Amino acid sequence: MAWNVFRFCTGLRIVGSIMIVVVLAIVAVSYYAVVIASYIPQLLGPAASFHDIILALLVLLLFHALLFMLLWCYFSVVLTDPGSVPQAWSPAMDEDLEAEAVPLASAVQPGLGINLPTSLVHSLPHNSKVRFCKKCNHFKPPRCHHCSVCGRCILKMDHHCVWVVNCVGARNYKYFLLFLFYTFLETTLVTLALLPHFIAFFTDVEEDSGSPGKLAATFLGFVLNLAFALSVLGFLIMHASLVAGNSTTIEAYEKKVSAKWKYDLGRKRNFEQVFGARKSYWLIPSYAEEDMRRLPALHGLDFPCKPDVGGDEL
Ligand SMILES: [Zn+2]
Ligand SMILES: [Zn+2]
Repeated sequence: MAWNVFRFCTGLRIVGSIMIVVVLAIVAVSYYAVVIASYIPQLLGPAASFHDIILALLVLLLFHALLFMLLWCYFSVVLTDPGSVPQAWSPAMDEDLEAEAVPLASAVQPGLGINLPTSLVHSLPHNSKVRFCKKCNHFKPPRCHHCSVCGRCILKMDHHCVWVVNCVGARNYKYFLLFLFYTFLETTLVTLALLPHFIAFFTDVEEDSGSPGKLAATFLGFVLNLAFALSVLGFLIMHASLVAGNSTTIEAYEKKVSAKWKYDLGRKRNFEQVFGARKSYWLIPSYAEEDMRRLPALHGLDFPCKPDVGGDEL
């Protein structure tokens, strides 16, 4: 039996909200190292040259702009429900039959070991592989998975992310990707901004380059941001390829994605299924109302498929 990497997720419950404090602590160290210890003194220093002032202004402006976007995206991922299955949701069927299904007495469906209304069972397509979550006791929409950390089914679940203390699913995946994007830009900026100070840390041993606190913050800020920039870059590349192929981390892990992947609508449409069609919304953690109306995938229940690829999985 293949080892399931998602099983270790159950242990993540313990970590909980501590991760939000960890993220904010890393931001605080970086803020202190870049703004307080390095570039405000460079801007206001009595011997500051024109070049020093312009560089300091540029770094401070970019740092604060990216930090604002990073925190906006971060708390959007943390606070947005990734999407849960509506109580009355059932696999696609004729509307008349669905209405009929409600008053009928329940019948036992042996294969599933649960109670399903008879008419509902008969109305399902013969070749359909109905997905049902025994833990939540409801049908699973397409691309939905049960998260053992959250203890519920998540629409178009990508993964449970320990850094955002939330599942990443249909309704917050874009926000998560933007969080990765701005984190990469911010950590790269901090790494480059602290590089001259980091080099000075080792070379200017005789020069008085600041208090031990400032030196420690500069050293820690540089090392942490370099490590994050490199690892986030790896994640960004991985997710760029997932978005391009319209698949999730779980689907890629389960190797469902093939040349005939039924959700692959071509790169442009695949991108719109996550980011929406309105360009002015692509870089912010929000959707245009028009996109929410026009793109059912953003709600996480219906996903357009390639017309030429049949699929029996609901
Ligand atoms: Zn479930
Ligand atoms: Zn989860």
